[in-house]
Amino acid sequence: MEDELTALSERDRAFYAWQLDVPGFGEEGQRRLRGTTAMVSRIGGLGGPMAFALAAAGIGRLILVHGGDLEPSDLNRQILMRHEDLGTSRVASAAATLRAFNPHIEVETVPSHVTPENVDQLVQRADIVFDAAPRFGERFAMNAACVRHNKPMIDAAMYDLEGQVVVIVPGRTPCLACLYPEEPVHWKRRFPVIGAVSAMLGNMAVLEGIKWITGMGEVNLNTMLHLDARSMRLRKISLNKRLDCEICGAFRESSCGG
Ligand SMILES: [Zn+2]
Repeated sequence: MEDELTALSERDRAFYAWQLDVPGFGEEGQRRLRGTTAMVSRIGGLGGPMAFALAAAGIGRLILVHGGDLEPSDLNRQILMRHEDLGTSRVASAAATLRAFNPHIEVETVPSHVTPENVDQLVQRADIVFDAAPRFGERFAMNAACVRHNKPMIDAAMYDLEGQVVVIVPGRTPCLACLYPEEPVHWKRRFPVIGAVSAMLGNMAVLEGIKWITGMGEVNLNTMLHLDARSMRLRKISLNKRLDCEICGAFRESSCGG
């Protein structure tokens, strides 16, 4: 993290005045956010609201990771993209919206999905990873890289009107492979989704991340936050580490770069 100790400018105080009043956040929280690089993958119904909320809060740098162009079927939930962007790069549209919205943050775009080849160099450059990928292969790759490089990851996923958020801190919590040792058999790439539900889950994930970065409030560790939006019930489900987990079972904090 950089610039953590530099005092806020008058411009910062003007922009972030209302959140500086939040108990436990304050100027120190704002400086910590400014000193943080957050990676978000992908930039869809979950990742778009994540990137938007992080930009609004004044995160220092965003790395947006997403391949492909905007299609008509994306627009029921893509809050960073516009009708006129159809057929153009999703990640470029998202970055343009975010830069116009908050020109005081840095936004980097990576126009490809996470792969086993690129995941290590992406995760190493981030202080925290927000995982909004729909495919288990990408989620597993980010999870393993976060454990390798000792980075916290907030994983969000949804189906229909239900969704979940899990905070993964290597060495302190179960990892994604503890929850899913193998990819679920019946997982479908295309799933039913209403934008308001994915936005709720994306914002829940960002709040957990902001709490982790700033020290405000209580981060839900060793817990799955499960939202059933059909009844609007939020459950907290306890999670346990698998001692024989192939990814985090042998984790040693001292052997990893921080
Ligand atoms: Zn594990």
